[in-house]
Amino acid sequence: MTDLNGKTAIVTGSTSGIGLGLARGFASAGANVVLNGFGDAAEIEAARRELDALGAGRVIYDGADMTKPDQIEAMVNSAVAEFGAVDIVVNNAGVQTVSPIEEFPKDRWDMIIDINMNSAFHVVRAAVPGMKARGWGRILNIASAHGLVASPFKSAYVTAKHGVVGLTKTVALEVAENGITCNAICPGYVLTPLVEKQIPDTAKARGMTEDEVKRDVLLAAQWTKKFVTVEQLAGVALFLCSDVAENITGVALPVDGGWTAA
Ligand code: NAD
Repeated sequence: MTDLNGKTAIVTGSTSGIGLGLARGFASAGANVVLNGFGDAAEIEAARRELDALGAGRVIYDGADMTKPDQIEAMVNSAVAEFGAVDIVVNNAGVQTVSPIEEFPKDRWDMIIDINMNSAFHVVRAAVPGMKARGWGRILNIASAHGLVASPFKSAYVTAKHGVVGLTKTVALEVAENGITCNAICPGYVLTPLVEKQIPDTAKARGMTEDEVKRDVLLAAQWTKKFVTVEQLAGVALFLCSDVAENITGVALPVDGGWTAA
């Protein structure tokens, strides 16, 4: 198992779903972890305590809003102040809206681009100087199978995720000689609140029942006929942070049950 003792990881959007699973993986591997995201304060504190008890590192919470560049920069700076460095960043915060393009709410377009794409730029921009100074870093962008292929009614999401894959490749080249890797993980469907919330909208948009959406829309593309799990994604993230992965960079790695192979 990857040993992250002495390392510090920021995971954006880690109060729920995939981010929380990744944060749990990093905490178990010994890293200090900065949790981030929205939600009920008592639930967030309970998650923070649970993760804090898992490994040698400490786990703190920062409520920075990923639509606010100054708050993102402050989150990176306060992590450095707290732990001395930021070695790993995981750009995971994300939201979704399912709507035909001609009815797509303009404010949701802007929000999705801000949270799912622009926040990754601001996190990386703030974290790279410290990584360069120490000659080691791992940047993980949680894109999506929708960073590689499209589905109808998800124009903002697909646009943002394709953008994140472009950012991943560009940053990988820029920092390649500094001991820093930058990779995107492209999951297929994971049963998290983000996916569960879009099932009713997809059912409405396609005139289907919710069970039909799960079987005929979500898992239709996943050849394994299984949802991806957060534990599997945490395992992939830890692998990409390990020393044997130092020559894996600029990759958009599908973890999608064969979806994008077809
Ligand atoms: P989720 O809804 O369970 O979690 C999203 C997280 O982002 C939460 O912690 C939420 O508080 C946080 N967040 C939302 N807006 C924020 C903001 N303005 N500032 C800070 N944090 C904010 O979703 P999830 O399914 O765990 O998704 C996590 C990431 O994985 C997203 O980028 C998503 O696009 C990607 N992804 C998910 C799936 C899937 O099937 N669930 C598949 C591929 C990619």
